[in-house]
Amino acid sequence: MNDSVSQRTLDAQEGDRLRQTLEQKGWRYTRQRAAVFAYLQSVKSHPTAEEVYFAVRKSIPKVSLATVYKALEALVDCQLADKLSFAEGPARYDCHSEGHYHLRCIKTGQIMDLPTDFDPDLLAKLDPSLAENLRKQGFLVTGYNLEVIGQFENAAAR
Ligand SMILES: [Zn+2]
Repeated sequence: MNDSVSQRTLDAQEGDRLRQTLEQKGWRYTRQRAAVFAYLQSVKSHPTAEEVYFAVRKSIPKVSLATVYKALEALVDCQLADKLSFAEGPARYDCHSEGHYHLRCIKTGQIMDLPTDFDPDLLAKLDPSLAENLRKQGFLVTGYNLEVIGQFENAAAR
């Protein structure tokens, strides 16, 4: 999927918030980092670093791929974005921080948010004693991921 939206920029308030969050974690606020964050917020797709790079280059032509990687690392470190890693294909980035599920097209690798409500109690519904059993084995459950896999019937067109 090609996000042809023009690069949006953060307003002053969003910029201030980003600056504060970055600086609390010891990262510097830069125009490039702001542009990466603005782009991630503006798209529904879960872009790869390279896709972010091509999008940000439209507004900051001199940005390098290494700078984009560093910006993504900073955003993930500040919990402003999630890095979604897969056995196959490059990592993808997501800054829709509210709990949600994903669907993944096994043909194109595309990730989208699942249009359904997040259920924080889903694990307990699968197995009411699961978390407690794991805790006895020394594993503390802090969350879970759910990914629905399949393929778009018209994968090439998406
Ligand atoms: Zn997502």
